[in-house]
Amino acid sequence: MSAFAGKSHPGYKRSHNEDCYLADAELGLFLVADGVGGHADGEVASAIVRDTLRADLRTGASLVDAIHDAHRAVLDEIDRRDESNMGSTVVAALVAHGEYDIAWVGDSRAYAFDGELTQISRDHNPVSEMLALGAITPEQAATHPERNVLSQSLGVSGTIKIAPGHIRAGLHPGQQLLLCSDGLTDEITDAQISRIMQEQPTPQAQVDALVEAALDAGGRDNVTVVVVGAKRVPSGDTAGSGCNRLETLDQAAAARRPDATDEALWRRIIWVLGVPVAVAIAWVLAKFF
Ligand code: CA
Repeated sequence: MSAFAGKSHPGYKRSHNEDCYLADAELGLFLVADGVGGHADGEVASAIVRDTLRADLRTGASLVDAIHDAHRAVLDEIDRRDESNMGSTVVAALVAHGEYDIAWVGDSRAYAFDGELTQISRDHNPVSEMLALGAITPEQAATHPERNVLSQSLGVSGTIKIAPGHIRAGLHPGQQLLLCSDGLTDEITDAQISRIMQEQPTPQAQVDALVEAALDAGGRDNVTVVVVGAKRVPSGDTAGSGCNRLETLDQAAAARRPDATDEALWRRIIWVLGVPVAVAIAWVLAKFF
């Protein structure tokens, strides 16, 4: 997977950036983690998650097993500290051989984009569950006061039992994956994300424009975005080159055809010369025979 880009920004309201991301093309591993906790604990938690996943994937572990291991690693760090409740979300994609594995805990999201934006992950929070059951509308979910309350996260407390979401599917040519923290999705709508993905030509330009849009909308949280995969060349371009080729062939055929103006001129010359000759022949025949 050669085409990808990632970016993280602290935003305008937070003193720390507790988000982090990883884009390891060699492993095919891409992730976003969004840490929480007092002082600098959130940064520590998200970094533990990132480093644990990378280390475990290098030894051939599955994504889901690595996420369980990251949960234990954050809990171990909590045990080493006094009064820490640090935690982190994670959304991770393992991309190889035209397929992707995506696993997540919390409300950092994965989307697929192929001209249309489709959310792959489902946030681990009660509001998303209510939305899935049809108890509330997407508009109500977007502004619900408890939309950021998580039903599971990595670390925080040993009493939390995690059940990572997990999806495996084929990655079509031209299909892109977008991973992000809620600093993006709380600031701009899916429609805005889709438009930016459509307008920008490369993963780097898409990532830059998405982060910029979240900052323009207020930048109230850390914002992190990873885009994986090259953008599909619009089908209009292919049709355009085909049209150009046809146009050239038509022009070549037209060049070989006799010019219509020349044909009309010859017809007139034959008419002008032919009529007097015919009259003369008729006169000679009438006169002498
Ligand atoms: Ca956040």
